[in-house]
Amino acid sequence: MQPKLPICAFDAKTGILCGNCEARLSKGEITEADVKASKAIASLADRFPELGKTTLKRASETRGSYVLEFEQSDMGPLRSNPQLHEELEAALKGKAYLVGAGVSDRQFLEEVFYPARVLTVNTVWLPDGEKKTKVVVPAKRSERRLGDFDKLRETVKRARGIDLLVETEREVAASLHS
Ligand SMILES: [Zn+2]
Repeated sequence: MQPKLPICAFDAKTGILCGNCEARLSKGEITEADVKASKAIASLADRFPELGKTTLKRASETRGSYVLEFEQSDMGPLRSNPQLHEELEAALKGKAYLVGAGVSDRQFLEEVFYPARVLTVNTVWLPDGEKKTKVVVPAKRSERRLGDFDKLRETVKRARGIDLLVETEREVAASLHS
């Protein structure tokens, strides 16, 4: 089986867009990130049969980090093989966050932070009236897993329009006692 992608399966395999997909790209119906993600997925579909059943709805890219939005029912099979995630990142030459399309903000954030746990998600209002979404993750280990929080924030803003604040449990505890 072949995955369903934003571009034709044939284009994704050959790496060359047909006239139709090229026109959709120039009209902005699809993005460069959709094209790159489609190619990466197509290149792995033979080795990972799980991918053949998936539907990639949309991809976005921020400084080399990708958010790949799949059909919600694809998430289980995609998570069942950690090697698939690694290979996708290798094919994209960047971090890849796998998320279900159309999920709630909370679920979106849990999927972005996966495999790190999300302890709480809260809306906070800064003194200047700016709205932020604060995610609290367990201390230390998460930072290593998630890498650069600044880059993660940009990626989440681009993909979903969420202004993210990330704090570890320890930072939250420290601010309560200061
Ligand atoms: Zn095409």
